[in-house]
Amino acid sequence: MKVYLDNAATTMVDSKVVSKMMPYFSEKYGNASSVHSKGQEAKMALDDSRKVIAKFLGCKFDEVVFTASGTESNNMVLRGIKGITNKKEIITTNIEHPAILETCADLAKSEGYKIKFLKVDNKGFIDLKELEKMISNETALVSVMHGNNEIGVLNDISKIGEICHKHNVLFHTDAVQSLCKANIDLKNIDFLSASAHKVHGPKGVGLFYLRKGLKLKPLITGGGHEHGLRSGTYNVAGIVGFAEAVKLFSGSEIKNMTRLRDKLIDNILKIKGTRLNGASGEKRLCNNVNVSFEGAEGEAIGAYLDSNGICISTGSACSSHSLKPSHVLEAIGLKHEEMNGSVRMSLSKFTTDEEIDYVLNVLAGVIEKLRKISGWKG
Ligand SMILES: *Cc1c(COP(=O)(O)O)cnc(C)c1O
Repeated sequence: MKVYLDNAATTMVDSKVVSKMMPYFSEKYGNASSVHSKGQEAKMALDDSRKVIAKFLGCKFDEVVFTASGTESNNMVLRGIKGITNKKEIITTNIEHPAILETCADLAKSEGYKIKFLKVDNKGFIDLKELEKMISNETALVSVMHGNNEIGVLNDISKIGEICHKHNVLFHTDAVQSLCKANIDLKNIDFLSASAHKVHGPKGVGLFYLRKGLKLKPLITGGGHEHGLRSGTYNVAGIVGFAEAVKLFSGSEIKNMTRLRDKLIDNILKIKGTRLNGASGEKRLCNNVNVSFEGAEGEAIGAYLDSNGICISTGSACSSHSLKPSHVLEAIGLKHEEMNGSVRMSLSKFTTDEEIDYVLNVLAGVIEKLRKISGWKG
């Protein structure tokens, strides 16, 4: 049996999405900026896709800006706010994705921004009072992710946005993991990043929500696409795929993924010497499991599971090639051994009970074997 439980890294493109995209590679190949019929055919598909996404997010048609990735969306917002404000202070957290952390680091180094980091508690939540205290007259932007890609914690972006707006500060959230997997209310949000390949759409397509009236400084100049914000010929097929992927979520997937997530967590925690990393229940992404095993290395667990047809991750995909401990697990205060023994399993809307049963069965054997080798007695 083959089981893919690394959907936080990327997801399979839904076959229905592929079918919807195909014509835009072949007969409907027009440039959406061309005025002739071939171009207008593509433009219509682009408009329809934008409508679908705007409706899903609950925003206006022209508040959706397409990009080439979640990473690009994050960069566009963080680097683009200088078009809105001269203030040079950004408040973020120490559990963000590298697309935020590295961008902040570069802004500090090359443009003199001051970056302030909110600490998180042992579950991954920021302290709203600390946020309120940290905001100063110089604060331009607060960027706090919605669903964390490693431990799945869902911070309360509505409350965070409310605090930001009370103090006249812009609020951005990286919602790449939570799109289609948690409810999102844009009420107090100015910018929100998302990516198609995390929701069964194609790779290389992202977007961000941009509150009407806010004028970011563009990073890419050229033909003036996306109101001059992001020039470059439209990836019509990709955007059509993104919209279709979003449309195929009905809301019921969340319930099923939550059930399977909890089945996986509950059964893993029955094995002694285990712990769940991150929050539980509703404040956790419906598809995220992150657990630590005493007496077994995450890397070894991953390798043994892989040889049994099961793909999982140790830490996040971006950091698992390095032996540096995960900055997220470090931030929630895990001890060295707990970090070493951690694995992340991330489900998708296609994950089944049979797959979870198989994983639990294989995992029990793998842990037992590794603990025998390590001499762990418990
Ligand atoms: C995957 C991911 C990104 C990056 O998105 P890409 O489209 O792969 O560039 C950003 N933030 C989070 C939380 C992610 O999980």
